[in-house]
Amino acid sequence: MATASLAGTAATEVLRPTSEAEAVEAFGDGDGVLVVGGGTIVVPDLTYRRLRPAKALLLKDAGLSGIENEGGRVTIGAATPLAALVDLPAPIGPCAANIGDREIRGVATVGGNLCAGEGYEAPRGDLQGPFLAVGATVRSAGAGGIEEEPLESFLERRRSRLALSISFQTPAAGAFAALDRPHTHDYTALAVSGARGADGTIRLAATGVGWWGVRLPSAEAAADDPEAAGRAALEDVDPQDDALASAWYRRKVLPVLVRTVLTELEGVA
Ligand SMILES: Cc1cc2nc3c(=O)[nH]c(=O)nc-3n(C[C@H](O)[C@H](O)[C@H](O)COP(=O)(O)OP(=O)(O)OC[C@H]3O[C@@H](n4cnc5c(N)ncnc54)[C@H](O)[C@@H]3O)c2cc1C
Repeated sequence: MATASLAGTAATEVLRPTSEAEAVEAFGDGDGVLVVGGGTIVVPDLTYRRLRPAKALLLKDAGLSGIENEGGRVTIGAATPLAALVDLPAPIGPCAANIGDREIRGVATVGGNLCAGEGYEAPRGDLQGPFLAVGATVRSAGAGGIEEEPLESFLERRRSRLALSISFQTPAAGAFAALDRPHTHDYTALAVSGARGADGTIRLAATGVGWWGVRLPSAEAAADDPEAAGRAALEDVDPQDDALASAWYRRKVLPVLVRTVLTELEGVA
């Protein structure tokens, strides 16, 4: 594994693993290690010295990139660029296509998006929504070794884990709806993802209503009636004002997006 010193941050040791095993070993229990996926968030933070880690673990050459589909079970490596996801079926493909611009999607990674979460002025991590909707599981390393768990529980401890891959069963139908604003570099203020499993179960999730993506269980329970489900979704969230939108506006728009997603799911055989 190559190591180097980061320009301008002499105390930071740069680790460049060339395999998953090397990456896992270099991460250890994660103490003092900053993981760098595409770096679209952390490189500016390093440049401006907002982050001064003892070690920076660069995943670019660690063999964690790629998408596999085995009989409908899809596994995506954590270092896969977002651009590789845009043609996947809804809700994941349309969500990926809605993130940043071509340049950002070309370097930003799935692991970085899942682990991004809170920004300085607004939530990030749009892909958390669609991956929650399809019931994805995350394989990660850290204290206790390599473990696989539902995305819900991974999100709560993502700061202490190295995400290796994310997997899900392709849903029978999926839908994605976002609050859209006409600006190239715009972050998503609010989005809803939905998926219908092979057994007919509907799962719904939202981003932009907290610091990371959340399931909408009350809306799911009322999924047969999109109007009622839209209203019920408000019981599942506690939106806040931030740089992108007010809590008031988000509460107005969330029921509309839930209705849109459920209506679209109804229309897909
Ligand atoms: C102009 C612009 C527009 C943007 N638009 C959007 C948008 O619309 N939606 C959106 O969600 N985001 C947006 N972003 C934020 C960011 O680009 C994305 O969230 C991106 O997916 C982050 O991925 P990355 O690989 O670059 O993350 P990095 O910067 O490499 O890392 C982000 C965080 O995740 C951690 N991390 C990275 N990989 C792993 C891993 N494998 N395991 C554990 N932790 C890991 C890092 O330590 C860090 O805490 C935008 C950014 C810019 C600059």
